[in-house]
Amino acid sequence: MKAGISDAAYAEAGVTVYPDAQSLCAEVDVIAKVRPPTSDEVKLFRNGQTLISFIYPAQNSELLEELKARGVTTIAMDMVPRISRAQKMDALSSMANIAGYRAVIEAGNNFGRFFTGQVTAAGKIPPAKVLVVGAGVAGLAAIGTSVSLGAITYAFDVRPEVAEQIESMGAEFVFLEFEQAQDGAATGGYAAPSSPEFREKQLAKFRELAPDMDIVITTALIPGRPAPVLWTTDMVEAMKPGSVIVDLAAERGGNCELTRPDEKIVTDNGVTIVGYTDFPSRMAAQSSMLYANNVRHFIFDLTPGKDGVIVQNMEDDVIRGSTVTHAGDITFPPPPPKVK
Ligand code: NAD
Repeated sequence: MKAGISDAAYAEAGVTVYPDAQSLCAEVDVIAKVRPPTSDEVKLFRNGQTLISFIYPAQNSELLEELKARGVTTIAMDMVPRISRAQKMDALSSMANIAGYRAVIEAGNNFGRFFTGQVTAAGKIPPAKVLVVGAGVAGLAAIGTSVSLGAITYAFDVRPEVAEQIESMGAEFVFLEFEQAQDGAATGGYAAPSSPEFREKQLAKFRELAPDMDIVITTALIPGRPAPVLWTTDMVEAMKPGSVIVDLAAERGGNCELTRPDEKIVTDNGVTIVGYTDFPSRMAAQSSMLYANNVRHFIFDLTPGKDGVIVQNMEDDVIRGSTVTHAGDITFPPPPPKVK
């Protein structure tokens, strides 16, 4: 009901609503979930069932063993290859888009002033200055939201190719003078850890910006690693009272040195640091709608005959890349995709 959909609405749409997970799992062939199942939930699954869920297989090897032992075919929504054909199933992107938007809304909620500048009879108000660190899917959504609310928006990413996207959205790319312009950029559109020299330059730039920024939204991640620490204690100390940091990397340790995952804190110098790790859940109606569409598209591809019969085509890059257990085996990690 938190997503704004009642049991009655499901029934009206022809869905059978079961009273608990146990009776549901005993009946169905496909189970679609959001969070990885707990060990107790895995015990409810049976041989031959298909589970579609976020799994994070690289961090959950024990869970993979349990699912394998149960004979379940597991589709990890977080493993959907990020190729054009699979965009409609890309739940990492649809959730990151929501998180980026919500991060700005959350910042605004904790910021005591307008985003946009105003000249009113009661006084002149300068526009807020927002810095977005990391311009992947979440960062670009944050930039779009911040610009549309009227803030002066700056953004930085180690991948210089995003400068154009940042500027086309009306934000300013924070340029770093560095000999190897490509430093930090990696294959596949993802970032790699920066060299110590690059990192120092980046931190020096942030130190220069810190006293002037009202809101900092950090989204920087490197696949398979803890989040890089980019907003250090001295930068927080240099910020004005009333400033806000929203750290979207909190779940992976945080980009801000002072972030506490799942908490909102206010520092001694009056800076609010938001470390929530459940931004999509804070917009449950929107997240449910988009995630359900991602799952529906996946099920569509799994049932090419449109007859409800699952064809686990392991020759298909998207199905193969996402399948982490199948036919009594762990099928993670997948071989590299054939299609770009
Ligand atoms: P991500 O969540 O892994 O990282 C977020 C951003 O942080 C990235 O842009 C990364 O470059 C940046 N970053 C890492 N270290 C940094 C640092 N030290 N300082 C500043 N920024 C840093 O990335 P993501 O949002 O999942 O997307 C990554 C890429 O994948 C993007 O290019 C995106 O457009 C692409 N993508 C492609 C598809 C597709 O289907 N073709 C789908 C989704 C994403």
